[in-house]
Amino acid sequence: MTGSTATLAGRHALVTGGGRGIGAAIARRLLADGASVTLLGRDAGTLQATVQALREQAPAGAMVSFVTADIADAGSVACAFAAATEQAGPVSMLVNNAGQAHSAPFMKTDAALWQRMLDVNLTGTFLCTQAALPPMLEAGWGRIVNVASTAGLIGYGYVSAYCAAKHGVIGLTRALALETAAKGVTVNAVCPGYTETDIVRDAVANIVGKTGRSEDQARAELAARNPQRRLVQPEEVADAVAWLCQPSAGAITGQAIPVAGGEVMAG
Ligand code: NAP
Repeated sequence: MTGSTATLAGRHALVTGGGRGIGAAIARRLLADGASVTLLGRDAGTLQATVQALREQAPAGAMVSFVTADIADAGSVACAFAAATEQAGPVSMLVNNAGQAHSAPFMKTDAALWQRMLDVNLTGTFLCTQAALPPMLEAGWGRIVNVASTAGLIGYGYVSAYCAAKHGVIGLTRALALETAAKGVTVNAVCPGYTETDIVRDAVANIVGKTGRSEDQARAELAARNPQRRLVQPEEVADAVAWLCQPSAGAITGQAIPVAGGEVMAG
């Protein structure tokens, strides 16, 4: 992976869901590589706090700011990209990281939950990519990295809607990579296994509430799916994303790369 040199200086990255969790780690990493970074999310308070923390670490010349949007809403996404472009110039790296994971047995997955998982995880990726792609094509250079999941590569019980949406994100990644292959724009997905963020904290609380197991037992159960017997750290996902954003990663496109301690092996 990359060192801390300013290999992305002069480029503008937009990270959806950049206020916390994996997205905040990605923003920190891209900033360290010299990019100007815009965080996108719904909660202005969280975004503002993260921007303030990141500003203290930003190298000279790299800007960090935020825009608010619900990625499932086309109008809101269009306004946010217009504001981000005004603040820091055209987006040349898009990290589609924002997502939600809600679990339910298939027969308890109602149409509203199904639709919400598709809207946020899949349609949100579609809308942000449509907003970001034109200036990349115009410049003849761009990077799109979709934070999918191991649930985009294999099945897991009790998350059928999330799993279907993340499989869709990987299909979109592969199709678009071919459309943009000769135009200087790479499109890849990173597929984390269980990663230490609010999503896992919620999953642990859910297991504790539904099964009566202790918090430690629930965490151990999730970690046990990873052959390394641990949760992935957000910084490890961020490193993989930053690598795919590098100019030197230009030959890598259409890939879905697991960051999951060997849980999934792409064939
Ligand atoms: P997280 O801590 O819950 O953060 C989710 C982020 O997405 C938040 O910043 C949230 O910001 C944003 N978001 C959610 N819905 C949004 C919407 N409708 N519009 C705009 N932003 C929205 O989750 P995380 O673990 O960092 O997950 C990041 C990505 O990694 C997700 O795509 C997730 O599916 C994927 N992933 C996570 C794991 C894991 O175990 N943690 C494993 C595999 C894949 P606001 O609340 O401000 O909107």
